[in-house]
Amino acid sequence: MDFYPVAIEKLIEEFAKLPSIGQKTAQRLALYVLNLPEDEVREFSEALVKARGTIRYCSICGNFTDKDPCAICSNPNREKDIICVVEQPKDIMTMEKVKEYNGSYHVLHGNLSPMQGRGPQDIRIRELVARMSADIKEVIIATNPNIEGEATAMYISRILKPLDIKVTRIASGIPVGGDLEYADEVTLSKALEGRKEI
Ligand SMILES: [Zn+2]
Repeated sequence: MDFYPVAIEKLIEEFAKLPSIGQKTAQRLALYVLNLPEDEVREFSEALVKARGTIRYCSICGNFTDKDPCAICSNPNREKDIICVVEQPKDIMTMEKVKEYNGSYHVLHGNLSPMQGRGPQDIRIRELVARMSADIKEVIIATNPNIEGEATAMYISRILKPLDIKVTRIASGIPVGGDLEYADEVTLSKALEGRKEI
């Protein structure tokens, strides 16, 4: 790619660092950006910097937020005694499709994977345990239905059971090996309804 000026090569290099963007796509995106009006490019770059600068993790649930606690944690109408545990912030958006769910959340920011050397100290399990009290009615585990997600669910159940906390796992129905993200509202609603104590 030495026929590109350095600035373009640098742009391609930056795009290629993004997840699921290969060299070809990076090149296409870089050239696309070069054809945009200058103010649109400025708006785009400012949006990146602003998002990174103002968005942080909610100190309670770990969701992305621009004010702490986040909108869900600070909503007085949400049930604080029911906590749904998910792997990523994007899973909250998925769970929010289930209109009947009115509890709170806890984002782990990952899952347990002995294969990849990811242990309990690498995800927000300690923070989850810290949220436990006699008031907590139920912890619903909605990690993904794959090996890591199941291992994470079992581990959390083992940790919370001695604290006398009711721990449930959303029912399958979501294809095994799949991702919560791809479950539609009805499937997810049924999975939540059919949750079982673990
Ligand atoms: Zn929150």
